[in-house]
Parts: sequence; structure tokens; C-alpha cells
Amino acid sequence: MIIYTHNDCLKKFNGHAHPEKKERLESIINSIKSSNLKVKFKEAPLADLETISLVHPKQHIEQIFSNIPQEGIIGVEKEPYADTMLCPNSKNAILRSCGAGIAAATDLMEKNERIFCAVRPPGHHAETIRANGFCFINNVAVTARYLQKKYKIKKVAIIDFDVHHGNGTQEIFFKDQSVAYGSSHEFPLFPGTGAEDETGVGNIFNATLKAGTTSKEFISIFDQKVLKAIDKFKPEIILISAGFDAHKRDPLANISLESDDFFKITKNIVDIANTHSKGRVISFLEGGYDLQALSESIIEHLNALKPHI
Ligand SMILES: [Zn+2]
Repeated sequence: MIIYTHNDCLKKFNGHAHPEKKERLESIINSIKSSNLKVKFKEAPLADLETISLVHPKQHIEQIFSNIPQEGIIGVEKEPYADTMLCPNSKNAILRSCGAGIAAATDLMEKNERIFCAVRPPGHHAETIRANGFCFINNVAVTARYLQKKYKIKKVAIIDFDVHHGNGTQEIFFKDQSVAYGSSHEFPLFPGTGAEDETGVGNIFNATLKAGTTSKEFISIFDQKVLKAIDKFKPEIILISAGFDAHKRDPLANISLESDDFFKITKNIVDIANTHSKGRVISFLEGGYDLQALSESIIEHLNALKPHI
């Protein structure tokens, strides 16, 4: 199993009180290194603008980069969501987070590896021409489009168990039958999208969760409303938007998952990949803002993700 990451991803600074901080990634990497998981760390390359433009127009990306300040931090959005920040070191962090997925696609297709992209900033809120929710480039969406273009993959499924709805991923693939998007998320909650009647062209599967949802309820709803639909779609590859903010310790949401629930959730996804997708899975870090929850949950996630021979 390969872990793509890069020191540049630790250099993005969003402000001292901001929940999307470098310590998130540090606690994940430290936890993996002190576990007995057999993984190979690889450095995430910088994504190229050409590949990014499979999802986001070049002009939009250049505009984001042109706003990067010489010093301090600036927000790219208007109030009340002025929390998607740029700092002087943002460009490489953003490009490496996306580049991890592109490199992972090659390892997946040419070496049949399982891969986790331990990166920040996250990506699932990034829409075609709108950065928001701490996200600039939709890492998972660019990887899906790249797999389709380079390797002629016809059907890609994106499964998103982050506690927030991936409004960006949904918007990008809303009219695209070749990509299925299944998401479980607390509702109502940021970003406000993801109602169950948002179904795209029959390729979008939203499962809404009430505040206070327990582990047992989550697993059941996820199975009924997301996994069953993805199983029916028979994807050739599964990409995971892995956010760990549905954990009971998370400060940004109100769902009550335990760390070991991320083993069960991941295992159920991997079972579908083993049935329909030749076991092909790439997972991407999205949210998760409690450091202890992250360091525990990542091990559960990777233990379920690792290939069992
Ligand atoms: Zn989230």
C-alpha cells in the first residue's frame, strides 16, 4: 500500500484559530509511522495545469493563484464563509494535493496498488469555478477525469463519507452518467446541498443524516442509500473521499461514529471494489478536525483498505 504525501502540504497556514491546520496531517502521518502497517511513503508531485483543466478552467486556477499574498493570509470567499484561505505557501500545497491523486492513478493502473493520499488542502467542496469550504481544486474529481482520459475507464464511483456534503464533486458530475457519486452527510449542515432529491441524471446518491446519528444508524443508512446504489452501478474503479469528521469527537459536526466504525465503512466499500472493480481503490483525505480521532480513525481506515492476500 502506498501513502502519497508531501512536506509542502504542511506549509499551508490558514490562521491560528482555523480547524484545517497542519497538525491534522502530522497526526495522521505520525500515527501511520508508529503503527505496524506496511506502507510505502511516496512524495506527491505537483499537478500540471493541463490535467487540472480536465475539471477546472485554467483561467479559474490562475485567478486563485494570482490572489496568493506575499505575506499573511487572505480569504477567497465573501462573508459568511470567509474561511477558505490563501497564504504565501498555498500554491505548492494545492498542486501537490491534486498531484497525489494523479500519481496514484498511475500506480493503481500500472502496478495495481492500493493508495491513500494524505494531503491538505482537501478537495470535495471545490466546484468547477468556485473555491470554498477550505478547498480549491477538487482532487478526487481531477483523478476521476484523468483515469477516464488516460486509461479509458468508463465508470468511476466516488464514495464520500466525510460528514459534509461534497457539493463540488456533485456539481462537477451532476450531469455525467459515467461517474456515480454517493455521499453520506449531516443535514442540514455546511455547505447546505445534498438533499436526497438531488439525484443528477440518476448518478447522485445522497444519504442525509440527522444530528446525533449513532454508529448503528450510520452504518445502516450508508449501506441502504449509498453502497447499494454503487454496487448496482458496477464501477470499474472506486475513489473515496475519506473525511473523518463524522467521528463523535469532531468539533465541526454532530454525528457519533467511533474510530473503529471507519474500519467497517471502509471494508464495505472495499468489498464492492473487490466484486466489481478488480479491487481498485484510491482514497483521499478530506476533513476531520479532532487530532485524536484522526490518528485513530486513519489506522482503522488503512487496515480495511490494505490488500488482503
Ligand atoms: Zn468535512
